[in-house]
Amino acid sequence: MFSRTLQYVRNQVEARLLCARHSRSKCMMCDKAPELEVLWADGRGHAWFCKDHLDEWSNEEEREIVSMKKVVDGKAAEKMADNKNPNLMRKD
Ligand SMILES: [Zn+2]
Repeated sequence: MFSRTLQYVRNQVEARLLCARHSRSKCMMCDKAPELEVLWADGRGHAWFCKDHLDEWSNEEEREIVSMKKVVDGKAAEKMADNKNPNLMRKD
């Protein structure tokens, strides 16, 4: 069990690594097309997954997800702001 601070630091580091080495047209954990992309690590990380892997990844640890959007045309946006789908994390 991680403390919140340690988890925050872990997320920051992992967020930087993850984004750099993944094709935007594949889920980060398998070869399927991504279905959802998220802004996480308090907004510093961008990740994209198929539905199953998003569930798995987000349940593993506290990911500090601030935004979640449906992927457009099977490819994650270069920048999360380029994806104009509604933010599914917004509670209004
Ligand atoms: Zn997957």
